[in-house]
Amino acid sequence: MKWDISKMDSWTYKQFPPGAVIPESGNSDDYVTGGWRSERPWRDDEKCTQCLLCWIVCPDTSINVAGEKVTTFDLDHCKGCGICAQVCPVDAIEMVPEGCDLPGVK
Ligand code: SF4
Ligand code: SF4
Repeated sequence: MKWDISKMDSWTYKQFPPGAVIPESGNSDDYVTGGWRSERPWRDDEKCTQCLLCWIVCPDTSINVAGEKVTTFDLDHCKGCGICAQVCPVDAIEMVPEGCDLPGVK
């Protein structure tokens, strides 16, 4: 559908079309939202000191932790932003091209 917005400057709130309604919060968990990622994070377990900084800053809650240790990345939801790699104090995370066949890349 396309709207005729040529006279939008004179619209009142009544002319603006209604926006989408999201009835439940947190529903991205039900969908694969990382499908357009071009790079994925890869963590070197040898270098990682388990400081958990990457887990704190990940905007998509895509760093899995168990027993207070980073385990894997949730690649269904990771957007490949690279923030985790930027903040890691020991450079244990590297962003690698999507589809890369490195050992340990899941
Ligand atoms: S690349 Fe971005 S979204 Fe993916 S795990 Fe790192 S911080 Fe989270
Ligand atoms: S920020 Fe780096 S060192 Fe800290 S837990 Fe994440 S990968 Fe490991």
